[in-house]
Order: sequence, then structure tokens, then C-alpha cells
Amino acid sequence: MDDMTNFGNTAEARDIRHHFHGYTNARRHMDVGPLIIEDGEGIYVTDNNGKRYIEGLAGLWSVGVGFRERRLIEAATRQLEKLPFYHNFGHKSHGPAIDLSEKLVEIAPVPMSKVFYTNSGSEANDTVLKMVWYRSNALGKPEKKKVIARNRGYHGVTIAAASLTGLPFNHRSFDLPLDRVLHTTCPHYWKEGRDGESEEQFATRCAEDLDALIQREGPDTVAAFWAEPVMGAGGVVVPPRGYFDKIQAVLAKYDILFVADEVICGFGRTGEMFGSTTYGIRPDVMVMSKQITSSYVPFSAILMNERFFAPIADESDRISTFGHGYTAGGHPLGAAVALENLAIIQENDLVGNAREVGAHFRARLETLKSSPLVGEVRGVGLIAAVELVEDKQAKSVRTPGRLGALMNAAMHRNGLISRNMTDTVAFCPPMIITRQQADDMFEIVARSLAEIEAEVGAPG
Ligand code: PMP
Repeated sequence: MDDMTNFGNTAEARDIRHHFHGYTNARRHMDVGPLIIEDGEGIYVTDNNGKRYIEGLAGLWSVGVGFRERRLIEAATRQLEKLPFYHNFGHKSHGPAIDLSEKLVEIAPVPMSKVFYTNSGSEANDTVLKMVWYRSNALGKPEKKKVIARNRGYHGVTIAAASLTGLPFNHRSFDLPLDRVLHTTCPHYWKEGRDGESEEQFATRCAEDLDALIQREGPDTVAAFWAEPVMGAGGVVVPPRGYFDKIQAVLAKYDILFVADEVICGFGRTGEMFGSTTYGIRPDVMVMSKQITSSYVPFSAILMNERFFAPIADESDRISTFGHGYTAGGHPLGAAVALENLAIIQENDLVGNAREVGAHFRARLETLKSSPLVGEVRGVGLIAAVELVEDKQAKSVRTPGRLGALMNAAMHRNGLISRNMTDTVAFCPPMIITRQQADDMFEIVARSLAEIEAEVGAPG
């Protein structure tokens, strides 16, 4: 095999030989090989050639407290020494799961009742969909099973979660979505708003589209609505003003549950503890992962109110057990790391830091709008995106993804890891980032943009 690559028997060659990567063109990987990251500290990671990068996406929107945080390493070690594993089946429990459940209910933005534990964002969303169905059966409404998510929403990749996700990559050739999962308008004003339509009018139209979809499907058949407060992987879509108020008014009319996917927004990213707070969302269910442990340990949690929980509990009593749960659900290692991680976020006011440094960084990004290649700058707190365009007037590109890939490559050369979603370049650095480091990151963005402007020439 080695002679098929340019990499000899290096770690790169060995990666190509046996490692099938997620979200990677598997054929192309044979030619380009991996970027191998060897260590990380604070907001930086270093590759196996000794090159250091700012991790502009906090790994996968997730390493909130930064790399090599001693307190997490010590909390994990203490827990592994004391009790490396226990589960919660058949009435069993352990201290970290009890403490964390209490903590999550305490910091929730609305009154919540119970926490169910899973291991990834996808698994959590899958579990919620199963709970929604189970609950409708419990309520004697077996026809109330459809759920509505949004185009470009991202909720993961397991069968139900990928169905909820509103992106073509996640459906095509996987025979998805499931037929009880529907999608409504993506609330991206810059892209979806019509000529002459105000932001407020656009938000109204999004709510009307939702209402019309519910009417078409039959209000008694729709059980839940799924949304990220700010869409992440679908391109950092910040909702238009008033959007969630209008959406919630529609849901209330038809007794439809609100599931807030806080997997990216949760724990400070939007400049509040939860994205739901930032946008006045009153969710029945909240899905959390990533920043809950700063991704040091795979972990996720579902926080639910009593209205959601009670019928499920009654049904489990009728059936004799709740027939769902994961070996590693509420794993003591993950729960212990989550507790310490939340303590770090609160004690160091990383939420305030995300708000302040985020505002500063986004203000600097705004200045890039003078570039002929920048169509929109958007964001909230410490999550932001720059939308690249070839034709600013038409808000369009001839070859989707070309500018995004060029920009990503330029930033990489210049020492910044980020991610382009087609022509959207996203920024979501660790929440410990300082103002100075945010300036350093911005300088790389600005320099990289200037380089690709020179590369592609004046757009015509
Ligand atoms: N929901 C949201 C909002 C996410 O951003 C993600 C991951 N990017 C997921 C769910 C899925 O999480 P995981 O990759 O842990 O399954």
C-alpha cells in the first residue's frame, strides 16, 4: 500500500491505510492524507511537524475551557481512581450523576425536572425523538408523532438525528430522512429574505411557513419542533429578531413541544449560559453535549420539564420499565469532568468572557465587509461566521465551496484552524480566549482574506 502514497511508512501513511474518517472524502483522503495533531494547550494545538495553530473552532465547537486544563485532568484522574464505571440501570446510581443532574436543573433557564444521560449529541437527539413517540403513546395520541426541524439545522447523524438534520449530505444515499420528520424554512435573513422584506417581516414569514406546514400535516399529528438557538454546522445562522417569539406562539396554538438543541450554544457560547436565554426560548427539552465536558470525555445530557417527563414515567410504570438506556449513560468519568468543567466556566466567568471578547472579535470581523469577497458577517457571543461571495450584489458564487476552501487553506497556512461550510467560514474558539488572542486570530483572518483576494483577482 505504501507505494500508493507519497508518505512512506509515516504516521500519515498508516492513517491512510486503516483509518476511515468521519466527514471526509474517503477517496481524496488517500491522496491528501491527514493533518495529525499531537498536542494542545490553551487555545492552541500543534501538529506533528511542530507547527502551532490557533484552534479557531475549539475542536468541533466544543473545547470551551481550552486544551490541557489541569483541573479537568485531575478531576478525571480522581474519578477513575475511585469509581471508573458504574451505570444507572435498574435503580443504580452514583455521586457524579446525582450531583450533575442537580447542577443542570439549577442552571437551566426554565424550570426543569429530570436529566437523562447519553454519549453524543446524535444519541441524545435520537433518544428525545424516541421519548416524544413514547410520550404521545402514553397520552393516548398515537397519531401525534411527526416532528418538525429546519432546513440547514444540525442535530447529528444517527438515524433519527440525521433525519432531523436538514442538510443534503446527511440524507443523500443514506435513505433518509425518516418519513415522520419534516423540515421548515431556515431563518437566514441574508440568504432567504426577499427583496424589500424587513428582518421582522422575514421572521413573521418563517412562523407562517411553520404554521402552514402544521396545518397541511394536521395539527394533531405534530408532536415536537426542534431547533438550535443558533444553527452551527448549517452555517452559523443567527435567527432574525423576534423569530423565536413568533415560532413559540405557533407551537403554543397546537400544543407542540419545543426541543432546544443546545449542543453548540450551551454553556456560554452565545454570551449567556444557554442560547435559549439569549433568544427567550422556553424549551420543554434541552439537548446538551460538547461544551458540557469541553469534549474531554464523550458525554451528553437531555434536560426535560415535568410536562415532558410525567407521561413517560407513567408509561414506564404501565409497561414495567422504561426500555431505553445506554451502558455508558451518565458515565461517572463524564459526569465528574462535566461538574468540574461547569465549575471552571462559572468561577472564571467564561460566559462573560465569551460575551465581551466575542463582541470585540465580531466588531473586528465587521470591518472585513469592505472586502469585495465578503457578503455577510454574522454571529453572537463567541460564535461567528464570514460568508464569502463572488458577486456581492447577487449574494452568489459561481462555484460553491471554492472561496471557502481557499480561505480555509490560507488560514491554515497562516496558523489558524477553522472550518468552511461551503463558503461560510466559521469561528468558535475556546471560551478562554483573551482579547489579545482574538486580535491575533483576526489578524490571520484578515491576512488570509487579502491573500485570497489577490489569488482570485477582482471579482467580475
Ligand atoms: N446537535 C448539534 C447542534 C451539533 O452541533 C452536533 C455536532 N456538531 C450534534 C447535535 C451531534 O453531536 P455528535 O457529533 O456528538 O453526535
